[in-house]
Parts: sequence; C-alpha cells; structure tokens
Amino acid sequence: MSSEPRPADLPAYAPDCYLCPGNVRVSGIRNENYSGIFVFDNDHPCVGPNAPFDLVRPSGLYENRPAQGMSRVLCYSPKHNATLAELPLPEIEDLVGAWRDQYRDLGERHDIRHVLIFENKGAVVGVSNPHPHCQIYATNFVFKTIQNEADISRRYRDEKGRILFQDILKAEQADGRRIVFENSTAIVFVPYFARYAYECFVAPKETHSSLSSMNAGELHDLAEALQVLTVRYDNLWRTSLPYVMTLHNAPTNGADYSAFHFHIQFYPPLRKPGLLKYLAGPEIGGGNFLSDTWPEDKAQELRSVGDVHYKREPSA
Ligand SMILES: [Zn+2]
Ligand SMILES: [Zn+2]
Repeated sequence: MSSEPRPADLPAYAPDCYLCPGNVRVSGIRNENYSGIFVFDNDHPCVGPNAPFDLVRPSGLYENRPAQGMSRVLCYSPKHNATLAELPLPEIEDLVGAWRDQYRDLGERHDIRHVLIFENKGAVVGVSNPHPHCQIYATNFVFKTIQNEADISRRYRDEKGRILFQDILKAEQADGRRIVFENSTAIVFVPYFARYAYECFVAPKETHSSLSSMNAGELHDLAEALQVLTVRYDNLWRTSLPYVMTLHNAPTNGADYSAFHFHIQFYPPLRKPGLLKYLAGPEIGGGNFLSDTWPEDKAQELRSVGDVHYKREPSA
C-alpha cells in the first residue's frame, strides 16, 4: 500500500465537505459560518437518543442492555486543510479547552457514565474526510480500556498506597530514554509497554482524574506537548502521520477516581512509511501484542526531528 494519500494542495475550503463552514450536512442542517472550533451532534451517531431501547432478550447465556448516549463531532478549525500538527499554539489551547468543556458538559448528565473523546486521523484508519475533527461519545456505559485503567489504578493504590501513573512517570524519568518531550507540567513518552512502534502518552505530571481539574498553566503546557508531538510525528517522514488519538479521562458515573491519572494516548498504525502494523495471529488470535521495535529507538527518532513543521520550514 502507498503512504498516506494526502495531496499537499488541499484547499482551505471544500464545497463538498460536510464539516466546512456554511456547508449542508446529510441531515440537511447547514453548518454555521464558524471561525474557531465548531461542535455539533453527529448526524449518524453510533450511540444516540434514538438507539433501540426495547431489546429482544437473547437466548441462553447471553445478555444485552441498551447502549445509549450522545455523539458529537468537534471541528478543530474552519480550515479544511489544517491538522492538529499545523494549528498555531493558541488554537491548540482552544481545542484543549473545548475538550474540557465537552467533558464537563456531557459528563454532568446523570444518564452519562463516560465521555470518550477521540480522533481518527488518516485514510489508513478509515477516515476519508481530512477536515480536522474529533468525535465525542458520551455513553451510559464505560469503555472497556478506561474501566480497566480505573480498576487497576484503584487496586494499585489500595495495595501500595501510591498512584500507578506516578510510578510509571517515575520509572520513565529515571530511565529517560523513552521521553520525547517535557515542559514544566506536561510530559510525552513512548511507554516501556508500548504496543505500537510510535505509541505515545501525553500527560500532565500532576495527577488529575480528568482535564476538568487542570489549571490554565497545565492546559497550556499540555497544548504545547500535543503540538510538539504531532509536529514531530509529521516531520518523521515529512508526511501527515495517521494516528488514533484517545483522551483517557475518568468516567463520570460519580465513583471515586482520585487514583486515575488523565492522559492522552496516540496510536500511529504505521511502522514505516506505508507499512501498517498488522494485527494478526499473536494479537488477534492470542491476545498479546508483539512489538517489532524498541521503544527507546522510536523515542530517539522522535527526539531527533525538529519542532518546526516541515511545511513551515523556511525554503533554502
Ligand atoms: Zn472541510
Ligand atoms: Zn490510557
């Protein structure tokens, strides 16, 4: 397969894009002529208020339950040809603030137990529209990975009296080889346990169970860390690097999540330009990831590329 098909000459506005300002979506609703961030309820939600409620009971041991909630789309910019990596820092700060507001707004609803914010970027992860956007699923259930992280964090604190993520940070800082970037309150690293070659965690250094309790300085530092990482991702191969990015905020079901440490996980699916990490026998069949690379080497690669996006480099 070829590397990410992303023509360099994408227009700033695309008449047929359902996310561009002023355009009409499939639902017939016209987008506002927005200038900054734009949020709307998904026209084709995977979870939504109209999900089937009266489910037929399955036979035998199986059980089911209605999956309900809200699904939204959040556009990062009115510019069709922008990406997170190419946004100016103040716009990334706005984005982080919008994520926090969405998490708070949706999480406050009594029927919502979890808010999953994620971006699928690039054709190789199934996204045909390059307009920069993420999705928000606010659901009456907690997604499995978050539930696992919450359960494990709680158990770790009960047993050891410490915060698991703080011990991870301590181990990463003591070793140092897998750290990609640090500022005063945020950190980016390829974890020791990375499953994908360029998998990275972006996190505040202080424990916050969600974006909601982070102060302005921490949000700024987090935005800077996001910018540095996404710019370096693109600079690796001078291409817009595809990834799945997921915000791991604590569930919003009212339980105690003080042992949970908010973080953002990036999963770039490529091992090399144009070469996907395929999930096969060991991963799908066996349930364990085989890693083809050393996280120390990948972190070194990410440290060695520049912080100026390759599209903005002054021409020689
Ligand atoms: Zn667009
Ligand atoms: Zn996580």
